[in-house]
Amino acid sequence: MSAFSSLHGDEKADICVIGGGYTGLSAALHLRQKGYDVVLLEAERIGWGASGRNGGHVGTGQRADQANIEKWVGHEAAKGLWELSLEAVQKVCDLIEAHQIECELGTGNLHLAAKSSHAGKLQGEVEHLSSHYGYQKLAYLSPDAVAERTSAQGFYGGLLDDGCKHLHPLKYAVGLARAAAEAGVRIYEGTRGMPASDGQSGDVHTENGCVHAKHVVLGCNAYLGKLIPRLAGRIMPINNFVIATSPLPSHLLPRVNRDNLSMSDSLFVINYWKLSEDGRMIFGGGETYSSRFPKDIKAFVRRHMLNIYPELAEIEIEYGWGGAVGITLNRTPDFGRIGKRLWYAQGFSGHGVPTATMAGHLLAEAIDGDTTGFDLMASLPTHRFPGGTLLRWPGLVAGMLFYSLLDKIGR
Ligand SMILES: Cc1cc2nc3c(=O)[nH]c(=O)nc-3n(C[C@H](O)[C@H](O)[C@H](O)COP(=O)(O)OP(=O)(O)OC[C@H]3O[C@@H](n4cnc5c(N)ncnc54)[C@H](O)[C@@H]3O)c2cc1C
Repeated sequence: MSAFSSLHGDEKADICVIGGGYTGLSAALHLRQKGYDVVLLEAERIGWGASGRNGGHVGTGQRADQANIEKWVGHEAAKGLWELSLEAVQKVCDLIEAHQIECELGTGNLHLAAKSSHAGKLQGEVEHLSSHYGYQKLAYLSPDAVAERTSAQGFYGGLLDDGCKHLHPLKYAVGLARAAAEAGVRIYEGTRGMPASDGQSGDVHTENGCVHAKHVVLGCNAYLGKLIPRLAGRIMPINNFVIATSPLPSHLLPRVNRDNLSMSDSLFVINYWKLSEDGRMIFGGGETYSSRFPKDIKAFVRRHMLNIYPELAEIEIEYGWGGAVGITLNRTPDFGRIGKRLWYAQGFSGHGVPTATMAGHLLAEAIDGDTTGFDLMASLPTHRFPGGTLLRWPGLVAGMLFYSLLDKIGR
């Protein structure tokens, strides 16, 4: 896709969307489909943020445990949120089909128990989701059944979820941008938007112009920076890293991943992986809790991959990259509105491929007058990080290091 130009001059629009990731693109597309005149501003390029850098897993459920969600919002709302999560996966599939987005869509996720104590918990989830939610696409696999599907080492069983999907994240983002542009959304890249932080005005200033809109949608997530300080204190950008190997020899493909599933493990600092269409292992693992990336991302992630697939020791790592995941304190997304005109959704906590796509749809519905789904998502409790933007780091780093230490000890 060739670059979109940057904005020079003033424009009028019903809605100005800020951010060219899944949240912004999906909001822009759905608003345009409802007949609104939409301008989308992206500071860098479409998909430059997490939407172009992620692992491409499209999971069911909200990111937080369903049992916790029940405690926070009650069973009825938890049921609604579970249903919304299934609709989110379906929404991704529908968009891909409707707009003919070629993004390597595949089916199924295998979530592996990294400790023996995790295996029982996974079995309990199958039972809970089946009896309380009627969800039948989940099956528990014994270690032997896991071994039939993958040569991944060190696991005590797994959950196979046939309701999950996986895809090529950047191709999906670029496809959404094409669909939005074809629908009539005016997209500007290289254009940083600066909205009124109290949400009382719809004017969004840029370096060389201004968009005069009635509503503003913020889809900046972990790349929000200091744009709206009261929102920045509710999410924390955590750097996460991914590598891509050279295409694997054909005899290894069915060994490492017989059924072309996405896979992940049950550690706090999660490892997640899948194969690309051209047979590369796309493996994500490892986090850093400072703003810096490791000097050698390939080596940093490779050791996590080799713990699980020692047989890939001779395979070259061709690419390594990192991106910022926007997490919230309890891992539930943060939906809301500031003043009359500023709408936002953020903090998808590593679950944004379906949830940010759905967020765009729900933001569009809400601005169009139906706030049902938006209000349900906004009912999830989210909190400011203690210390806000200034002092949140030390507490978070201590917490993250504590939990990542638990990954290394115990059974
Ligand atoms: C390494 C990694 C792996 C991940 N793996 C998965 C996964 O497998 N499955 C999953 O579901 N989720 C995953 N995630 C999370 C997922 O990618 C995100 O939740 C999702 O992409 C968020 O989309 P978004 O549109 O809200 O934000 P982003 O995609 O981050 O987009 C925000 C955009 O806003 C732009 N922006 C910021 N400020 C401004 C401004 N002032 N003006 C204009 N533009 C601005 C940025 O340039 C950026 O392009 C992963 C994330 C990372 C980093």
